[in-house]
Amino acid sequence: MNGANLSGDVVIVGLGPAGRALAYRCAQRGLRVVAIDKHPFRTWTPTYGAWTDELPSWLGPSALAAVAVRPSAFGTREWKIERDYAVFTTAGLQQELSLDACTVVQGSAIRLGAGVVRLADGRHIYGRVVIDARGVREPRAPQQTAFGIVVPEETADPLLEGRSAWFMDWRQPAKLAAMAAPSFLYAIPLGGGATLLEETCLAGQPPLGFAELRARLQSRLSAHGVAVTGAEPVERVRFAVCMPASTRSPQGVLAIGSRGGILHPATGYSVAASLSVADLLADAIAFRTNPRAILWPLSARLVYALRERGLASFLRLSPTDIPAFFDAFFALPVPLQRSYLSGRTDVTGLVTAMRRIFTASPWPARRQLAAGVMRPELH
Ligand SMILES: Cc1cc2nc3c(=O)[nH]c(=O)nc-3n(C[C@H](O)[C@H](O)[C@H](O)COP(=O)(O)OP(=O)(O)OC[C@H]3O[C@@H](n4cnc5c(N)ncnc54)[C@H](O)[C@@H]3O)c2cc1C
Repeated sequence: MNGANLSGDVVIVGLGPAGRALAYRCAQRGLRVVAIDKHPFRTWTPTYGAWTDELPSWLGPSALAAVAVRPSAFGTREWKIERDYAVFTTAGLQQELSLDACTVVQGSAIRLGAGVVRLADGRHIYGRVVIDARGVREPRAPQQTAFGIVVPEETADPLLEGRSAWFMDWRQPAKLAAMAAPSFLYAIPLGGGATLLEETCLAGQPPLGFAELRARLQSRLSAHGVAVTGAEPVERVRFAVCMPASTRSPQGVLAIGSRGGILHPATGYSVAASLSVADLLADAIAFRTNPRAILWPLSARLVYALRERGLASFLRLSPTDIPAFFDAFFALPVPLQRSYLSGRTDVTGLVTAMRRIFTASPWPARRQLAAGVMRPELH
């Protein structure tokens, strides 16, 4: 709906997964929600995935396209991960996060402040709470990049050989130049008989470019005798894996989603975390408690800071140490893997996981891991 100035209990700017989840959960509580986006009705295109145990119970099954049961990983040896990994259908996820009970405004926000949002067309939208969910476009932060193609599942068979998915396969398809950053294969079912095969640079500063990733994917396919036509749908991925302080929102505005640091600063994943915190935030807004305090208790701030240090450590690893680093990670019991990758407040679990990865890593890697923790210069 477009029109003159509007007001609501909560004004949400940005309708990616974070803004849309919060809009939906606030509207479910009877709050008057004004939801603003430049393109509010555009269907999302990224292939979003998450561990099933991260998803909130209110999310219906129609949001999911496929679930990979106990996917596999390969560092210097193969690991079976005792968790299930879900791939969203983006249209289904958008429908689940219904905006039917919200006032949706198409527009570009140019100023967000306490109680008011100004749009480029001159309108003002007023609200008791203003939420900034505009996402992150931050080229200075470490980035994840990937180049992927969608193929029929039988085409992917030689790569998967009966596995439900490769969460990550760090075997390199071809000999890389001495200090070239390694990439991994992410091979996941999309439902409907399709599989995404994606060559991924987990985090780089600078990251690997699309041409390089495409060439590596091609040699990986050739090495397994997989023939493709070149006409397959393509996914190009590039996003900041952590949120630099320069992106923080103005006074009186609460940033959420990737913009607000509700992301894992090592993988850049944010969708499951944003879905999980939506109810906490909606309750805080409904009951007029401080949503920032609910979102960022000391434990969450510590976990974020430690994970940023984990990213700094990872970026210092030499290419040859990276597969062993992931062996150390996948050797962790699943609750510790979860503490490292999922959730936002388990300080003890995260410290234990980091300590165990450190002690299981070879000595040269330990030096770099320690240096990254001591000097986490990322931005
Ligand atoms: C291809 C790809 C694959 C990814 N895969 C995963 C994955 O598997 N799992 C995962 O957890 N994460 C994944 N990510 C990373 C990350 O979680 C996503 O980027 C996610 O979309 C972040 O959600 P968000 O709601 O915070 O922001 P965004 O999705 O970036 O949404 C921001 C919204 O704000 C709107 N907006 C921006 N500025 C304005 C403005 N001035 N006025 C009005 N509206 C504005 C935009 O139009 C947009 O709709 C992926 C990212 C990409 C690009």
